[in-house]
Amino acid sequence: MSDAVRPEGVAESGMVGEPDELQRLWVPHRMVYVSDHQQPDHTDCPFCAAPQRADEDALIVARGETSYVIMNLFPYNNGHMLVCPYRHVSQYDEATPEEVAEIGALTQTAMRVARDVMGCHGFNIGMNQGAIAGAGVAAHLHQHIVPRWASDANFFPIIGKTKAMPQLLGDVREAIAAAWPHP
Ligand SMILES: [Zn+2]
Repeated sequence: MSDAVRPEGVAESGMVGEPDELQRLWVPHRMVYVSDHQQPDHTDCPFCAAPQRADEDALIVARGETSYVIMNLFPYNNGHMLVCPYRHVSQYDEATPEEVAEIGALTQTAMRVARDVMGCHGFNIGMNQGAIAGAGVAAHLHQHIVPRWASDANFFPIIGKTKAMPQLLGDVREAIAAAWPHP
């Protein structure tokens, strides 16, 4: 279609719209972040599947009665652990009193062990509730335990979307699991 015959609001392709000064960056892959449809149900949920595998394979650190501790496959920092109930529940207020108590107790133990084994100086601990709040696997509750060191921040994440991880996940898991106190 030539410019001469093209009515206002009709693009060269023949498709219509309201022209403005803005550039569009089309990012359909980000739909996964705004749609709940792609959240796994319990049949393909990584936090339901992990306890069915061996600890070393699944990177599980410790197992409790209702909940367990696992290394995050996508760590924010060295030693990043997740505490999950075995049950496929999404929201913290859906957890039973027993699950809440054990998630708390496992979190405390994880802190003590991480301090002993890794000598970290602090922690970020918390839960993202829902995909909109940043939960990667929103369908299955998990508490993050992220060890922090005074010197752990650097400019890698800014310039290269890369986080420097000084220790391999399997090695960290082994060290933490070996130091985990068993009653
Ligand atoms: Zn699950």
